[in-house]
Amino acid sequence: MKPLKHVDSNMNNLISDLQTLIRQPSVSAKNEGIEECAKLVQKMLTKAGIKSEILRLKKGVAPIVYGELKSKKNNSQTLLFYNHYDVQPAEPFELWDDPPFSGKLKGNKIFGRGSADDKGELITRIKAVEAFLKTTGDVPCNIKFVIEGEEETGSAHIDQYLKKYKKKFACDGVIWEFGYVDSKNRPIVGLGMKGLLFVELFVKESIRDAHSSLAVLIKNPAWRLIEAVKTLRDSNGKILIKDWYADVQPFSKKDLEIISREPFDENSFKKEFGIKSFVANKKGLEAKKALVGGATCNIAGFVSGYTGEGAKTVLPGNALVKIDFRLVPKMDPKKQVERLKKHLKSKGFSDIGIKVYHGEAAARTNPSDPFVSQVKEAADESYGTSILNVSNAGTGPMYSFVENLKAPCISIGSTYMFSRIHSPNEFARVDLLKKTTKCICLIIDKFGKT
Ligand SMILES: [Zn+2]
Repeated sequence: MKPLKHVDSNMNNLISDLQTLIRQPSVSAKNEGIEECAKLVQKMLTKAGIKSEILRLKKGVAPIVYGELKSKKNNSQTLLFYNHYDVQPAEPFELWDDPPFSGKLKGNKIFGRGSADDKGELITRIKAVEAFLKTTGDVPCNIKFVIEGEEETGSAHIDQYLKKYKKKFACDGVIWEFGYVDSKNRPIVGLGMKGLLFVELFVKESIRDAHSSLAVLIKNPAWRLIEAVKTLRDSNGKILIKDWYADVQPFSKKDLEIISREPFDENSFKKEFGIKSFVANKKGLEAKKALVGGATCNIAGFVSGYTGEGAKTVLPGNALVKIDFRLVPKMDPKKQVERLKKHLKSKGFSDIGIKVYHGEAAARTNPSDPFVSQVKEAADESYGTSILNVSNAGTGPMYSFVENLKAPCISIGSTYMFSRIHSPNEFARVDLLKKTTKCICLIIDKFGKT
């Protein structure tokens, strides 16, 4: 196929365009360079031959860069690429070997904030489309790009954008913004993401901290909160809130087949984190099932009283705990919040306040969808192998896409699993950028044939 050869002989262009993207900081958390980067991405799409525009919701919200390319073929399918042009803050700067926005190429690696997450992934999509245009003057299927600028701060407005531009974004399949490649160079074809409910529970007992001798009279809010938190989950990780799992469906036969085939090196995983055993002593298939489809109740942080150096005999006036719940398909974040509130009330903890930060549902693409086998075949051809994954253990706004566009979503990409995304010395591997660009070419080709 001509586009594949074009990718092989144009890697220098891909590298220098990626460096240009990295050199434009675009830190959404600090609103640094967002507008500039959106314009740069728009220019890059145009240069590749893709019609592009900047879409806005309202003031203060990062714009979406939208790209569209119609195939000259009649009745062809539409493939949508979802990516993001914003990056995580680069701090701590002193831990970078080279300046984070320099895009330095060293051997097989391009370093810099956003090199992998997500500018590296974005460039593979753009270059794949460009390869078709340059070699055939057309694309086998219609192409759309939705490139947002708030992913790293939680995609706060993607759902509103999807609702507002539902017609414009209409498509038959979505390629997700990222995709991992494991330590044995096997790409993961991911079919889902878990949901997330992030809450803060807090107790205020007295108007100020007191001398701890008064603990004989003044109730300690930290104890109160600990007692409440203890009722949420048992020591095996099972969530004890009434009806928490009521809507969850068991894995299908096909899901279980995929899960059992998926490699998981328990020992090196444990070694990586310096741990001896898993929650509830899970092993083998049980551990894999938990990663793919386990709901969690995790204490992300607990703050109360004095935690500085040495001793301080203090009785804190308040206490707070931050908790994230990973949700699995069919769990509705709003319903789960109500269940949590009801639970606390029924256990006698009406005095405990709840602040909800974030709620989003899980999403999964049916493994029997023909789009899955197309992406899997493309990955196998380009990388020589690939691994199907029923759901990532993490969270992304996939549910909004599935719900609004009614199209299957699949993640596939070039990010080496130890490429230090969100950390100093983030890098993208040139060999994987090339394989992924070719894989995207093959996906476009196969998709055009449906
Ligand atoms: Zn990220």
